[in-house]
Amino acid sequence: MKKSDTPDNLPSYSRRRFLRASQATVAALSAVPVLGGTTDILAVTVSGGSTKPRPDYYDKLGVTKLINAAGTYTELTSAVMPPPVREAVAQAALHPVHLEELQQKAGEYVAQRLKAEGCCISCGASSAITLATAASVMAANNCQPLDIPGRIGTPLFPKNEVVVQKIHHYEYDVAMQLCGIKFVDVVTLDDYRQALGPNTAMTQYFNACDAVGISREDWIAVAHEKGVPCHLDAAADMPPISNLWKYTGMGFDMVSFSGGKDIRGPQNAGLLLGRKQYTDLAQRNICPVDSVGRGMKVAKEQIVGMVAAVDWLLAQTDEGMDQESRDRMAVIVRMVRDIPSVKTSIMVPEVANHVPHLMINFDPDLIGASARELRVRLRTATPCIELNPHTGSTRPSQGVPAQPNALVVTTFLLNPGEEYIVARQIRKALKNPKSVGTYPPPPPPAVT
Ligand SMILES: *Cc1c(COP(=O)(O)O)cnc(C)c1O
Repeated sequence: MKKSDTPDNLPSYSRRRFLRASQATVAALSAVPVLGGTTDILAVTVSGGSTKPRPDYYDKLGVTKLINAAGTYTELTSAVMPPPVREAVAQAALHPVHLEELQQKAGEYVAQRLKAEGCCISCGASSAITLATAASVMAANNCQPLDIPGRIGTPLFPKNEVVVQKIHHYEYDVAMQLCGIKFVDVVTLDDYRQALGPNTAMTQYFNACDAVGISREDWIAVAHEKGVPCHLDAAADMPPISNLWKYTGMGFDMVSFSGGKDIRGPQNAGLLLGRKQYTDLAQRNICPVDSVGRGMKVAKEQIVGMVAAVDWLLAQTDEGMDQESRDRMAVIVRMVRDIPSVKTSIMVPEVANHVPHLMINFDPDLIGASARELRVRLRTATPCIELNPHTGSTRPSQGVPAQPNALVVTTFLLNPGEEYIVARQIRKALKNPKSVGTYPPPPPPAVT
């Protein structure tokens, strides 16, 4: 860093860049989301020919817009869609179509692009898990969508067991239980062999599980000896892009991905990829059929958005996306590295959320606030910045070691220019914590 180039005294070049960046950000934040970067023709068509400024419904509703330096977290509405995906969504909204035809053709297109035999576009990974279970139950029992889950407590189908490693139970179990199945838990490979029997409908594997259990290869081989289909939940496990065909190529019969995470499609879209026999059965359970998937309708805008996101993603490279994250991190590092006790490093978790994470370590006694306090302060400031939830963590999780004294930042979801805002706010918070936001946060308004 040149002497004149201290963060508190930005040279005019950087200041201009920062201003331009923040104007771009303000513009991006206040633009009608579906119209970012569209042609005038589309803008006019979408707005029905009106040139009046459109209301910003977040502002109208008093909803706080945030800068996402956290990652693809569901409660933060996950990723924002890149401009070509937003345009595709806006285009799709212009015309009604036959929903089944769209489902089918979009599924075929995505399957072909992602080297799978088949694909069912679901309303998220959780819904893909439900549809995979329904497909497996139908295949095992030769039954119909309406038979699932059957009468409460008494499934209409006898083959109702899903075999899973004890360590792979998680919050998405309910996505399978919706289909009226029961779990059979296993620990060792021997348990597993014995558990697979005449009543097994499916096996379930949680790809990003921190604990080491039965390997994927053994899991698939043993199930296939007995003719049982294997489902893999890989919801958040892209990048690398090739993971979108790695696991189906390995032999998993069905693999679920979230469409709204790093694939950057609509948040309520997802992919069930795999053998056509199963993805076709999954399709038969999704809206408009009256079935367990009826409440998991994927609207035409989401289906088209999902397809466009796959197209967008396949035009990117892992190296390009990684570099963009790191370039943005360099902006932040430059702004904080002269602060006493601050040390920065970058790590990439192995399986889930396999993107660069910037750790900004500091001595809380010297700075005058803990990492957790600074996270709250940045959230309650204007603009609201959300840091990665590993900030101030006391235990390792999801492939990230404990970070008791670090702010954890991801930059892949920032809108262009927001890295400058994040950098300045983090600097301000580290130099004078009380000047940023409030802590503890104000209590929510009382309900009367
Ligand atoms: C996010 C996630 C899901 C759910 O994904 P949605 O697309 O939000 O339904 C399921 N499984 C795992 C492991 C996840 O990380």
